[in-house]
Amino acid sequence: MSLLDRRTFLKAGSALTAVTLTSCTNAKQAGANDLAAAAPDWNAFGRSLEGRLYRPGQTGYATARQLFNPRWDSVQPAGVVRAAGGNDVRSAILFAKKNKLVLVPKGGGHSYVGASTISNGLMVDLGGMHGLSYANGIVTVGAGARLYDVHAFLDKYGRSLPTGTCPTVGVAGLALGGGMGVHTRAYGLTCDRIVGMGVITADGVARNVTASSDPDLFWALRGSGGGNLGIVTYFKLATIPANKLGFFKLTWPEFNAAAVVRGWQKFAQTAPNTSWGNLHIDAQSNGTLSIHVLGVSTTGNAAAAAAQLESFVGSRASARSITVKTHMEAVRYLGGGTTSPRTGFLAGSDVLKRPMDAVTITAFLGAVKAAARAKTPASAIIDPLGGQAAKQPSGGSSWPWRSALGVIQWYSSSQGKAAQTFITNGHHAVQKYSAGGYVNYLEAGRANSSYYGASLGRLRSVKKKYDAGNFFHAPYTLV
Ligand SMILES: Cc1cc2nc3c(=O)[nH]c(=O)nc-3n(C[C@H](O)[C@H](O)[C@H](O)COP(=O)(O)OP(=O)(O)OC[C@H]3O[C@@H](n4cnc5c(N)ncnc54)[C@H](O)[C@@H]3O)c2cc1C
Repeated sequence: MSLLDRRTFLKAGSALTAVTLTSCTNAKQAGANDLAAAAPDWNAFGRSLEGRLYRPGQTGYATARQLFNPRWDSVQPAGVVRAAGGNDVRSAILFAKKNKLVLVPKGGGHSYVGASTISNGLMVDLGGMHGLSYANGIVTVGAGARLYDVHAFLDKYGRSLPTGTCPTVGVAGLALGGGMGVHTRAYGLTCDRIVGMGVITADGVARNVTASSDPDLFWALRGSGGGNLGIVTYFKLATIPANKLGFFKLTWPEFNAAAVVRGWQKFAQTAPNTSWGNLHIDAQSNGTLSIHVLGVSTTGNAAAAAAQLESFVGSRASARSITVKTHMEAVRYLGGGTTSPRTGFLAGSDVLKRPMDAVTITAFLGAVKAAARAKTPASAIIDPLGGQAAKQPSGGSSWPWRSALGVIQWYSSSQGKAAQTFITNGHHAVQKYSAGGYVNYLEAGRANSSYYGASLGRLRSVKKKYDAGNFFHAPYTLV
């Protein structure tokens, strides 16, 4: 949905409120029964919950509705449920249905477009449902758990998971939309490790979703993004060993930029599955570009991976570091610590179908260079796919980009017009090679269908099967 569509939707939300208020006023003439039918009974709903309900004006509401990005602080849900368990989630779905409220679930609250909050609707925050347990290689994760907590818990058992890096990102949003990180090539995406989920669907039914029970829903939930098909209350994920990781960081001067992009593309295509490295092109405030690759070897020895990348680039890096880190050292290093402060940003993505040609590489670098010249904070970061991520996991997955080379993220810590211009320029520069967008990097102004590739048709059928009335319908949901 475009920004325009989102505005229209939000306006429609306000119009709905206005209509409700008008009917409340007229209800004096129409009679008390009609008033009862028109106005949601928030008090009764709040009392029915094991967790808490926050309403505008109440203590705690301002904090309860916050997401990671302060950009969405002005969005005012009609209510925020801090769910204590599956019963609260089910009650919230039934309450929202009865009262025709738009409902959105919230996990870690890191959605790029504020998809886990909704003006005049009901936010269901699963943050309190963060319990963890482990047995026989499988971790059960409450849908409100954050990445750092999951890693710290699993470390006690010598286990880990392939995830993204930000410590406060929610497992729910990350896993439902894919989940890329340093283990992607060795072990696949986070969604590929899901073996079961507790899901409450639009009819209020709690399901144990696996490859054999509700196989369509299992397929769909692995990679199509949160908020579309039901509310997940817990995940069961197959863990991986918490081994030491070898790290390399290689930096090149700007005049090597095109060669580094070419070399990185060859690395992404041909390096062993144990090697991973993401390419960063950062705009500097003095108008220049800073270029580096942060790499990981799951063998623990990154020297060979670094040397292979340098040979593909055709020149030795101007600065290089090679280190080895334990599992938790690596988690903290990649996440910048154990937590992450709320941060404003604007970002978007392009999924790269295959290596870019020379003309496109020049345009790609030109998009970041233009931002550097305009003094706009800007980065283009390309995460490699391939390896295990190129293979369908057992039970299948709706994540549509198995054959792609990598995912470009266009990121700006500024949020104004200049940041949007940078992202738009970036899209334009790589248009010929873009297959679509990564659903975990949702952005305003692009068609929702562009996140689903060849999975779109089957996803629409699954949506019809489990949510025929389109109850889970918000600005960025699957249509
Ligand atoms: C700082 C930062 C770093 C990031 N790093 C990475 C990275 O390394 N790799 C990567 O792949 N991605 C990364 N992301 C993107 C991230 O994966 C997505 O933003 C993800 O959707 C966030 O999940 P969340 O639970 O925190 O967000 P939320 O905003 O809570 O949820 C995201 C979406 O999922 C829905 N949802 C939430 N909980 C549930 C549930 N229980 N059931 C059903 N739907 C639900 C929401 O309604 C919303 O639509 C990063 C994002 C940020 C802001």
